[in-house]
Amino acid sequence: MNHPANCIFCKIAAGTVPSRKVYEDDELFAFHDLHPWAPVHFLLIPKAHIPSMAQVGLEHAALLGRMMVLAPQLALEQGCKPYPEGGFRLVSNTGAEGGQEVHHLHFHVIGGPRPWLKG
Ligand code: 5GP
Ligand code: ZN
Repeated sequence: MNHPANCIFCKIAAGTVPSRKVYEDDELFAFHDLHPWAPVHFLLIPKAHIPSMAQVGLEHAALLGRMMVLAPQLALEQGCKPYPEGGFRLVSNTGAEGGQEVHHLHFHVIGGPRPWLKG
């Protein structure tokens, strides 16, 4: 697993690596995925370096709760149509068999009119 000092998403959250920002507050950061699968595809991350959902504990419950509340709000702001006709997909790839490539916890928020490139 990568150390936070070498973590691309820590650098994006800190602003030392550029990204197309969607949202930022004290604890959370969201930015457009470099290789979107769909008309809306952004990543929502905690600023704190948590490697994946596998490391989440009760001490993270409030932070994760905030991410779950924010994701649908940002999805609408980014152009996903409202539920139930519109909606979005919320994905957190975890570990090698889960398809995780960047080892800093992130939620993919994917949506918009179909067809999508994947999924
Ligand atoms: P994972 O497979 O770990 O769930 O997905 C990582 C995602 O991060 C991929 O969809 C990939 O396109 C995106 N990604 C990787 N590096 C960067 C980057 O430097 N900037 C941005 N904006 N997205 C990235
Ligand atoms: Zn990190």
